Amino acid sequence: MLTAKAYAAPSATEPLVPLTIERRDVGPKDVLIAIRYAGICHSDIHTVREEWGPITFPQVVGHEIVGEVTEVGSAVTKHAVGDRVGVGCMVNSCRECEQCRAGNEHYCLSGNTQTYASVDRDGTITQGGYSTHVVVDEDFVLTVPEALPYDAVAPLLCAGITTYSPLARWNAGPGSRVAVVGMGGLGHLGVKIAVAMGAEVTVLSRSESKKEDALAFGAARHVATGDDGALESLRGSFDLIINTVSAPLPMDAYLATLRPEGALVNVGAPPQPLPVSAFSLIIGGRSLAGSNIGSIRETQEMLDFCAEHGIAPETELISADRINDAYERVLNSDVRYRFVIDTATL
Ligand SMILES: [Zn+2]
Ligand SMILES: [Zn+2]
Repeated sequence: MLTAKAYAAPSATEPLVPLTIERRDVGPKDVLIAIRYAGICHSDIHTVREEWGPITFPQVVGHEIVGEVTEVGSAVTKHAVGDRVGVGCMVNSCRECEQCRAGNEHYCLSGNTQTYASVDRDGTITQGGYSTHVVVDEDFVLTVPEALPYDAVAPLLCAGITTYSPLARWNAGPGSRVAVVGMGGLGHLGVKIAVAMGAEVTVLSRSESKKEDALAFGAARHVATGDDGALESLRGSFDLIINTVSAPLPMDAYLATLRPEGALVNVGAPPQPLPVSAFSLIIGGRSLAGSNIGSIRETQEMLDFCAEHGIAPETELISADRINDAYERVLNSDVRYRFVIDTATL
């Protein structure tokens, strides 16, 4: 066993604390990564606070991980010592089901192994990226292009792929009109990526406070949805809407802003059901859809795309002792736009 320094949640109601954890020995197909930076995702907070169900404590979270390979197993071919690599939301899958065989391991029929709070192949609970080291099967390790800024790239591994995948699947590109609802960790990357794909992008957010940023990221316009009549004025405007908000929104009003055969894709996850009128879908043949991260192949494609187009997350680098404060600030939407932990401070 290897040991690693980490920051862990001791329970659902206590702050995170420093902890030494064990990592499995490097197996033939494994890569040992010295983690340099780890992003803070809202999912981390939902998980440690058991808002998405019970978990086993202590729990280390973090699924936006970048670092260097420091050791490889005897059968590893994809990565070498010294490579800059990343790990996102999953670290394994069954590899046998039709989805895994088709390269859709994120939709593995028996459920992929999540980077944290998931039962690993050896029966242990996976521990995430707020840590100095992690051991991961090479097939779930991404190559991080050197062109991407090392201390800011981590959020691409969750927030980046979560928005890239639906934009690619619904063909965002020249001539398409895309709306991004909510401009936080996910939304700001959705805007940058959709702009780089060539789409005309509109940001829909509650107030005017992020308007300047939206335009700086390349959006053609910003609409404050809190203003009277704002959504009504957008009827029939968009081919694709990416909804990153994890609170319930009036779905019918948003669906009405789609053009015929347009799609509204949810990547934010409110715990409550989303009420929707069938007529909002029938009239104009519109779709209401969802999307969950992306495959390993697509995640690599996203990283390469971002390197090619000079896309990087907007981040605030913090030391480990500020993680608990950062959680409160994430809950208050008081970050532009993602916290990244410098793991040298663990
Ligand atoms: Zn995440
Ligand atoms: Zn599978």
